[in-house]
Amino acid sequence: MNLVQRALALTVSVLCTPVAALSAQTKPVDWDAISKESQKILVDYVRINTTNPPGNEFPAARFLKGILDREGIEAQILDTTELGTNRANLYARLRGNGTKRAIALVNHMDVVPATPSSWSVDPFSGAGKDGYIWGRGAIDMKGNGIAQLMAMIAIKRSGVPLTRDIVYIGNSDEELTGTGALVFVKRHPDLLKDVEFLVTEGADNLVENGKVVYFAVGVSEKRQFWQRLTVNGVPSHGSRPTKQNPVPRLVSALYKISQYETPLHVTPGVDKFFRDIARLYPEPRRSWLSNVAVALKDAQAREWILNDVWWNAYLRNTISLTGLAGSNKTNVIPGVATADIDIRLLPDQDSVAFLEGLKRVVGDTAAHFTTLLPPKTPLESPINTDLFDAIERAAHDREPSAFVTTPMETGATDRPTYRRLGITTYGFSPFLIPRPEIQRGMHGNDERLSVDNVGYGVHFLYDILRYAQ
Ligand SMILES: [Zn+2]
Repeated sequence: MNLVQRALALTVSVLCTPVAALSAQTKPVDWDAISKESQKILVDYVRINTTNPPGNEFPAARFLKGILDREGIEAQILDTTELGTNRANLYARLRGNGTKRAIALVNHMDVVPATPSSWSVDPFSGAGKDGYIWGRGAIDMKGNGIAQLMAMIAIKRSGVPLTRDIVYIGNSDEELTGTGALVFVKRHPDLLKDVEFLVTEGADNLVENGKVVYFAVGVSEKRQFWQRLTVNGVPSHGSRPTKQNPVPRLVSALYKISQYETPLHVTPGVDKFFRDIARLYPEPRRSWLSNVAVALKDAQAREWILNDVWWNAYLRNTISLTGLAGSNKTNVIPGVATADIDIRLLPDQDSVAFLEGLKRVVGDTAAHFTTLLPPKTPLESPINTDLFDAIERAAHDREPSAFVTTPMETGATDRPTYRRLGITTYGFSPFLIPRPEIQRGMHGNDERLSVDNVGYGVHFLYDILRYAQ
């Protein structure tokens, strides 16, 4: 479906859905009160230090369970033994009438470390200043976790009739190795078996000069396929060069890899992303982006497109040479030299074939590849779904001039872990955060979320959940 068709389909669905009838039975929501309540909860949540390592997510899970218990929403703290000391996953479910399959709201309770000396406030104080809630996790992803929680609570309080259960999951350890999600999926497939859609982090809306350019739904994600390249040699004294020095051989292999241009490949979500954003550019760029597969055959267009490091990563498997180790003494020829290589595959690529291709590029059987991180399940979720339509509709309510598009996640999230079960998995942020704030705060310093965003996010998710019924 192209955008015009989608817009038409959307208009039709708006006219046909008995939302007026539904809302007549629901109690109105006091959005101002919910926003203030959510802000207070987020402050308390940020104050629970879940820096990973070590994580210590158990108190966070208990905090969330306490809120859910008070609302009469069934919640459980799970996997405490499997995840280790003071760690846990949280699971809750708000029941609908079961005519449609469930939607899961998934977040992680852990945060990355913060260096207090680099912050203007104590990163675990939840300080309120200049219209923001400051603290580690305010964006990634405690803010989103509380917006999800309060949207579910608002649905319950207002009595929105549910055809789908709403599941809420707080995972531990997303920021390190993702064991929280892995253990959850392994131990509780029964709790997920009726889940059709899952929403978690993995895409950011684009806000420029205070205006929404687009809303983003992350439907696809690159896959880490980290390798170590090893060349063995014979150790000896640096004063007498030998042919058995592994370093030049490794360097020669790495040079070939550095010169290798991986093939360009357009996946469905990326194709849609470029077609969507084409409207933001003047000709000829608009035409190029409208059909990126064709444009990549044109030298001028290709150069412009691939010059953007994000777009380049959307369009090919990428290889970054990162770690190097040889001798730690200038006068010693080492017995072994290694290089670590950060490879990221597009969702639909075959890792075995890719590695075979890379070996041919190197063309030296003395250079051995070892897989450091095997690739996760491919993530490329379908776009033509009830939930995607609900997100588009809620987005359109807010910003009729903005559009919804599907950038690819070049990093890694917990989504492939859930996608493995066949769940349609989207990355979505309900907030409007300018890029520089995300850049600075996420995994950086002075992470903060505006108080306006808290209420905005709760309401946005509430509407999405309501429209997806
Ligand atoms: Zn995160």
